[in-house]
Amino acid sequence: VLSYYRQLGREHGVLVTTRFYLRVAGARIRHRLDNALPGVRVECPCCGWRGRSFRDYVDLGYRVAASVCPRCESHSRHRALSLWLRDPDIARRCRGRALVFAPEKCLEGSWTELPEARVIRLDLEPSRGVDFLADICALPLASGSADFVSCHHVLEHVHDDRGALRELFRVLAPGRSMLLSVPMSADPATREYGRPDPLESGHWRSYGDDFRARLADAGFALRPLVPFPPPVALRHGIRPEPVFLCEKP
Ligand SMILES: [Zn+2]
Repeated sequence: VLSYYRQLGREHGVLVTTRFYLRVAGARIRHRLDNALPGVRVECPCCGWRGRSFRDYVDLGYRVAASVCPRCESHSRHRALSLWLRDPDIARRCRGRALVFAPEKCLEGSWTELPEARVIRLDLEPSRGVDFLADICALPLASGSADFVSCHHVLEHVHDDRGALRELFRVLAPGRSMLLSVPMSADPATREYGRPDPLESGHWRSYGDDFRARLADAGFALRPLVPFPPPVALRHGIRPEPVFLCEKP
């Protein structure tokens, strides 16, 4: 904690860093107090934790209320993916060689529940416990060699996201599917920052509704996913966020 404080202090200054740490501590205390009361309102499908509320996620530049599972650190997007992987249609598609980009620990159990998938975990750097180090814009894989791709909240960290989409399309076998999401705003058009924004977790851009066109430009056909019913979303702390089921024709 101290070494991270020093690192953030060097990058953003002592005042910003101290304020950030106090906000983190406040969120944890509020969560402890709320969950000391009896009653179960929410449940994490990734790890099975049950309680009254998820914890607020606090970053340098923003806060997301009731977002993080206190046991496995899952966020809304992880819990949504965990439920999607139990969907019979998605589970049917997720078989053979399944590439999982930027794998997250909280989803390990969800992937191992898929008996027909041989999961291959890839990232640009080794800290996530990956099987292969790989640049998503220049994948060391043969064309058409993947049977399934999972790529969640990755492209916003990639400078050349269109190049990454072309690579994902190339390595996917014809007739196979990719499950993909990016953080999206309500804006119609994507806003490019021209550099990673440190106050937005290093995102290169804020995606708008035109993100669908980027997927189509890369060659993917989009299959609509029906959103979770409100009680299911509420129970699992899942915010409405588009997840794209993309097929390579
Ligand atoms: Zn959890």
